[in-house]
Amino acid sequence: MAEKTIFKKIIDGEIPADIVYEDDQSLAFRDVNPQAPTHILIIPRKEIASIDHLSAEDEQVMGHLFLVAQKIAKQENLTDGYRTIINCGEGAGQTVFHLHVHLMGGRNLTWPPG
Ligand code: C5P
Repeated sequence: MAEKTIFKKIIDGEIPADIVYEDDQSLAFRDVNPQAPTHILIIPRKEIASIDHLSAEDEQVMGHLFLVAQKIAKQENLTDGYRTIINCGEGAGQTVFHLHVHLMGGRNLTWPPG
């Protein structure tokens, strides 16, 4: 069996996280190395390594993650806008291979990202 990712360990309660939202399909917690005043990771409970590993049955949960992002943005009062990012693959900066949406806000976010 492949070793659990750090995010699967958070889902299973084996390591702590600053959880801001959870439901039956998803979990959201503050990034330990925040790149903005608000930097939250939203993950599916289902183990999906990356966007490249999605299948048709994941369509609903992917939409759900963005509705959760919208809810948390309201909760965090990100009235000036926010950004959602999903890195896919090492070349794009993905370091944890459990799909996650970065939700960032609370500062001026420039474009293009690095
Ligand atoms: O998109 P990427 O895979 O690079 O993002 C992983 C994110 O997970 C990083 O922003 C990192 O700070 C965060 N992280 C975390 N808690 C951990 C390990 C990583 O918030 N225990």
